[in-house]
Amino acid sequence: MESRASEKYISEIKYLKEEKNAIILAHYYQTEDIQEIADFVGDSLSLSQRAASNNADIILFAGVKFMAETAKILAPYKKVLLPDLNAGCSLADSCKSADFEKFIKDNPGRTVISYVNTNVEIKAMSDIICTSSNAIQIVQSLPPDEKILFAPDRNLGNYVLNKTGRDMVIWNGTCYVHEEFSLEAILKLKEENRDCKIIVHPECELPVRMVADFIGSTSALLQFTEKDQGKCYIVATEVGIIHQMKKFNPGKTFIPAPPKDSTCGCSECSFMKLITIEKILNCLINEKSEILIDNDMLLKAQVPIRRMIEISEKLGL
Ligand code: SF4
Repeated sequence: MESRASEKYISEIKYLKEEKNAIILAHYYQTEDIQEIADFVGDSLSLSQRAASNNADIILFAGVKFMAETAKILAPYKKVLLPDLNAGCSLADSCKSADFEKFIKDNPGRTVISYVNTNVEIKAMSDIICTSSNAIQIVQSLPPDEKILFAPDRNLGNYVLNKTGRDMVIWNGTCYVHEEFSLEAILKLKEENRDCKIIVHPECELPVRMVADFIGSTSALLQFTEKDQGKCYIVATEVGIIHQMKKFNPGKTFIPAPPKDSTCGCSECSFMKLITIEKILNCLINEKSEILIDNDMLLKAQVPIRRMIEISEKLGL
């Protein structure tokens, strides 16, 4: 019964997309059914680039609010819809604009690099935006003696600092999904599956990063599993990416890394999972949950995002 209802939703979504010249951009952390109906599935950087370069009148963003805001900033004349406006982000919410303004004032003379996982107000206060795919290259693109203020993820910030050796002051924020992975449980899994490689997102804590065979953004992890000769992977990032990993590597095994609290279901981002097929359909019908941003704020936030895209394109990322 449920599957018939979902088939009906999917055919109505397809019809409405055509009818309204809409596209669906879905993040890798969305559920499988949503990834399957999306026009494009990707990480934050590729979705931002896709938002800026398409002919659709409506962008329906299956992801969280900061991502839909980024799409609106890059495509201000399009209607950008988020099927549930409560789809926030623990990391973005850890960085409030008044506190961030003070942090910048307390650390003068630094170039402000903010991770894309920030609200529009933080982007508007930044010099350059980065994603986990390009953070190292963005930092390295600056002169070696340039002092940097990095926000808001302390784990990604420390990972970039270790890789680049740059002078960086880092905001103390975290993603609740990525900091919940249990080193002990991962090592136990590895002991039971000795041929498995441990692959880790840089938002994870240092002890988990230290046992990784490979560290990379969600897209980099996906690419690694395609190129690598291994057959089994313990995956320390949001579990939604495993759908794409299985799709591109049918013969390989993927095991989600366990969280510290085995009862919390923390390897799933509860914000991402607020988006459902039914909400996507309702959103396309009524077009109500639209992302609206004050024009001055939007123009300010555009500058550092465009700078990121320019640097990324120049570097072929
Ligand atoms: S996985 Fe973490 S960083 Fe990504 S949206 Fe969820 S809470 Fe935010």
